[in-house]
Amino acid sequence: MAILHGIGLRWINGRRGGGAPALGGDIPEHIVARLFVEQAGILAQLLRIMSVAGSCTVALLLADFYRAGTKLANCGFGFVVCACYIALFTASWRFRPDPQELAAARGYVRRSRDLLIFLGFIWAAFTVELMTQANDAQRSLIYAICIGLMSTPVVFAPRSIAFAFWLPVTAGSFISLYAVPAKVDNYASACLLGYAVLTSGCIIYLNKKLSERAINAIQLEEQNEVVKLLLRDFEESASDWLWETDAMLALQRVSPRLAEVAHKTAAELHGLFPDVLLGEAGKPGVKPAAAVAKLKRLIGQRAAFRDHVIPLLVAGEERSWSLTGKPILDKSGRFIGYHGVGSDVTTARRSQEQIAFLARHDSLTRLPNRLLFNEVMHQACARCDTQGVALLLLDLDDFKLVNDSLGHATGDAVLVAVGERIRGCLREGDTPARLGGDEFAIIVSAAATDEIAAVALRLQERISQPYHFDGRQVEVGVSIGISLGPKDGTSPSRLMQNADLALYRAKADGRGMWHFYDPEMDEKLQNRRALQADLRQALARSEFFVEFQPIIDLTSSRIIAAEALLRWQHPARGLLAPTGFIQLAEEAGLIAPIGAWVLREACRAAASWPAYMRVAVNLSPMQFRDTGVLDMIESALQQSGLAPSRLELEITENTVLETNTFTVDALWKLHGEGVRIALDDFGTGYSSLSYLRRFPFDKIKIDRSFIKDLGREKDDSSIILAIIGLADSMNMVVTAEGVETAEQAALLTSYGCAQAQGFLFAQPMSAAALAGLIDATEAVSAAAQ
Ligand code: C2E
Ligand code: CA
Ligand code: CA
Repeated sequence: MAILHGIGLRWINGRRGGGAPALGGDIPEHIVARLFVEQAGILAQLLRIMSVAGSCTVALLLADFYRAGTKLANCGFGFVVCACYIALFTASWRFRPDPQELAAARGYVRRSRDLLIFLGFIWAAFTVELMTQANDAQRSLIYAICIGLMSTPVVFAPRSIAFAFWLPVTAGSFISLYAVPAKVDNYASACLLGYAVLTSGCIIYLNKKLSERAINAIQLEEQNEVVKLLLRDFEESASDWLWETDAMLALQRVSPRLAEVAHKTAAELHGLFPDVLLGEAGKPGVKPAAAVAKLKRLIGQRAAFRDHVIPLLVAGEERSWSLTGKPILDKSGRFIGYHGVGSDVTTARRSQEQIAFLARHDSLTRLPNRLLFNEVMHQACARCDTQGVALLLLDLDDFKLVNDSLGHATGDAVLVAVGERIRGCLREGDTPARLGGDEFAIIVSAAATDEIAAVALRLQERISQPYHFDGRQVEVGVSIGISLGPKDGTSPSRLMQNADLALYRAKADGRGMWHFYDPEMDEKLQNRRALQADLRQALARSEFFVEFQPIIDLTSSRIIAAEALLRWQHPARGLLAPTGFIQLAEEAGLIAPIGAWVLREACRAAASWPAYMRVAVNLSPMQFRDTGVLDMIESALQQSGLAPSRLELEITENTVLETNTFTVDALWKLHGEGVRIALDDFGTGYSSLSYLRRFPFDKIKIDRSFIKDLGREKDDSSIILAIIGLADSMNMVVTAEGVETAEQAALLTSYGCAQAQGFLFAQPMSAAALAGLIDATEAVSAAAQ
């Protein structure tokens, strides 16, 4: 009894302790409690039935023995058994399972267990006693009853209850077998033993399985409760809402949240889904948006849909709702409506659209970017055989200077304004794009050549008109290259390449130009490539030489300096001027070694000139990108023995504008060592003079273009006078370049210009020729003295 008690308690306590090894996994205490109450409820029902059936069995048994004339000395057992059944029945009848009343269930189970143990022992004694009196037929009946008693607890739960009854009745059955030793039947014993094993196994197995199932059912029920709670909470607090329809797709149970976002009353939302949500857009006769049509198609197919976004009108405003829906089927598989959730995704959608727009558009000008441009280009090329396409590549002239001198904010403002002007010049269907920096492109489809020429002209006129920002006027020019499909190519890359060549040509022709591609340009490009290849060899093959052009002091008419000018004796093309190859050398990264060679040559030659004479050497902006430039200059001076003060470095405005701290520091350092710095081609670049103060200039060289017209009708005297005045005030010498006439020289002298250089005085010449000229002038001046 105590052992049985222990088993029962362990069973119950084991669950209560949280662990439930028999059931697998951790089962929360409250579920164990609910399971226990549930099992107690079922037990009560079973015990009621068992009590009735058991009492009837006792009655039948007694009746049978009585009929057979057997003495019924032990019918007292029968009464005790029946009394036990009555007690069990009463306790079970009274018991009302309540999940909140665990203690009551425990009390009931404990009482029942005690009664069952007692009943089991009484039955055991009863069957043993009956067996001693039974005839053969009655023996079989007793066996049958024993089997019945052993199998009854198979359906009992908890397990402790089942064994509380099973153990005594099984023991009783075995004892009764041996109650009359003369009648012991070994076959019956073996069968009984087998049956005992089977029933005890069934008790353990069924108990486990039924408990598992019951726990699952409880957990599921609890989950459903939780989901219901969550859904309620979701509707009350989240931005999403639930919706459902009936089998006819009429919207059901409109939630307050849905009514709120739809800006309608629940009554107004009675109608067919989704039309009733769409507002004006859902009215009959209005063509639905593609997304709505697709949703209706899915609903027509009774299909599930997830995050399907539809446009709709809410209080006159266009909004986007995301709908997820699932068709609900009844047990027989019949469609009974949709259930789903919805949310207003307008804000997310708008930002998505914004992101998608920015991925394919330039954020500054809002024009399509390279990505979108490429797509349109591919489409245009696909139909260019039938429709024709023109590609215009635009490049702003000297935009970098605007950016550098006026700041990036103004540069950006110019780009935006240029983008707007480009748009203004185009027809609908043409695609403008910003490819990057100051590069724009336009795809014009289906137009005749003269129309495209008109577009190019219009673009050029509009873009080059002045821009006004913060009271400042800015001007930019534009060069345009045009290629036409299918004539100049049928693939985007080919058309791009050819438009690029045409643009290159337009730039080379002096900016502010536009050009159609023509196959000759290809040849020119090939030509350039070949020249560049030759250039790589030229230094090693000693094809370069330096000429010197004298610089004259206008007051004394003496040669006071000479500018070193590079020449290339090309084996096939003859003598080439630097304008034709310096840029190529810069592009090929060859300018540093070539420039260094010129500097060494120039210093070496100048070392033999009279001490008052300087040598001027041109330095490319690219040379300042190389931090070795200082060492290079110093070593050239050292090798030649030329005093630093006799070297003059000519740099252009581009060097100044591409400046970095390294360039500034390098120039100041050189200046400190006595090397003179001259600003070359002054006036051709961007006329922001602020940099004059930041750099240690000793000299300004006025560009030839200002000198050319001197003395003619439209001369630039005022500019020249201003430059000379400015240079004076900053202690800088002025040299006029390209002086070809005596009149120009006279005028410059009268303006106070100190030095001049030009064909009037001397052409560039070899070092030997210059040495001869110096000697001759020296001799003349010596004779004059
Ligand atoms: P630049 O520095 O302005 O050089 C003066 C150019 O004007 C020289 O052309 C010279 O021959 C030319 N010139 C001189 N007087 C007159 C004149 O009275 N009338 C006319 N019409 N032209 C005159 P060149 O030698 O063809 O040089 C062209 C440019 O090539 C130079 O312009 C300079 O920017 C560049 N260059 C020349 N040699 C070198 C060099 O060694 N290194 C670098 N980086 N550039 C160089
Ligand atoms: Ca120069
Ligand atoms: Ca110059």
